Amino acid sequence: MFMANPPRERLVTKIHDKWYDLTEFERLHPGGPVALGLAVGRDATVMFESHHPFTHRRVLDAILERYEMDEPSSRHLTTLEEQHGIPEHQFHWKSEFGDALKLQVKEYFEAEATRRSASLTAATKAPMERWFEIAILVAISGPCFISFLRGNWISLLTFPLSIWVLGVNTFHDAAHFALHKNWRINCVMPYVFPFFSSPFVWYHQHNIGHHGYPNVDHRDPDLLHYYWLKREHRSVEWRSTHKMQRSVIFLVFWWMMAAEFGLATMNDLWMIFYKVYNDSVPMKLISGRRLLCHVAGRVLTIGMIHFWPFLVFDSWTRCVVFATVPYLWFSMLFMMNTQINHLIPEAAHEASEDWYKHQVSTAQDFGVKSRFCFLMSGGLNFQILHHLFPTVNHWHLVRLQPIVARLCEKHGVQYKHVAGYAAAVKAHHAHTVRMSFKDEEKN
Ligand SMILES: [Zn+2]
Repeated sequence: MFMANPPRERLVTKIHDKWYDLTEFERLHPGGPVALGLAVGRDATVMFESHHPFTHRRVLDAILERYEMDEPSSRHLTTLEEQHGIPEHQFHWKSEFGDALKLQVKEYFEAEATRRSASLTAATKAPMERWFEIAILVAISGPCFISFLRGNWISLLTFPLSIWVLGVNTFHDAAHFALHKNWRINCVMPYVFPFFSSPFVWYHQHNIGHHGYPNVDHRDPDLLHYYWLKREHRSVEWRSTHKMQRSVIFLVFWWMMAAEFGLATMNDLWMIFYKVYNDSVPMKLISGRRLLCHVAGRVLTIGMIHFWPFLVFDSWTRCVVFATVPYLWFSMLFMMNTQINHLIPEAAHEASEDWYKHQVSTAQDFGVKSRFCFLMSGGLNFQILHHLFPTVNHWHLVRLQPIVARLCEKHGVQYKHVAGYAAAVKAHHAHTVRMSFKDEEKN
């Protein structure tokens, strides 16, 4: 019989209030063991539903039935969320809107599968056209990287920009298992980009936490980044320090520090130390050896990207500048593209019990007709669509947007979108200022 905490060597998870032991299914899971591993020990209902939108329900039910645990074995089990005192949050999954979305988007991919002579799953991943785009981005990044290693001043601007564009067009899709049908490619790709977060922490922060529960207090970790300094949500208790976020200088400083110092370094350490990411996402239980490998990998990565200039350049000025400035600029790019999609006045405090409506109401798209916005954000400008279908490669989102917008209108769900970056940043700034007041309703 299992104890209260599921044993870490078993792949035990909870879906729709039932416990399953998927250990034997690990090698059979088409999405691979890494994707399945994200569910271990936690309530994985949201990940289960959002990661299988096109699989026939009969197939899913048959698999689950095979691995369902009997009542005596699961009676005393508790989820990681329960063990860490993280409040439960349930969505409704019977949704006319959701069914219509899945049906029409599946029709698009059936046509795409025919066009590419591929399986339905393969059709949802990157087509040749997308790989061609990625190859061009690699070709642009190469010379920028060489220029950076040679210490050319202009590369301080061009190298982080080229890596951002290449990274956001590959890392993000790969981490969502959306780049390729082969799970190994999806799992290896995120390790190519040391500027970004470690994949292990990213899966917790982004896939498990943010994607499942956008703008849900105590469940979305994006609402809780250094909340004693910056307030992103009404659920965070107001402090006098939050007045600082009215200042543009403070915001620029915040954006410069957030990605490299925050996400890639301190947040990583804190998750390892507290076993929870931002008080909202419990860390997956891993062996001591695996933990040691992770810490060693992070130390090596952070050391390498910040200290190599001191081994190469004679000038101390050049050493210090090359060890810091690229990461501040990269962080700005990261924040500019990730903060403007949910943290705006019209979306920050929206909510619905219907998961599909919740994904639409808590996000905003921008520049949906702009190729520049698409490439610069890696498709994050289709945030609503990405949240509805996280395992779909971003290349398809531009084509799916009219379908989703039409269905939103038909089902009375407000589809929010603005013209481009300027309007999106302005909306995010308005939200930030609003949250700086104790009683933000009056502002
Ligand atoms: Zn995402």
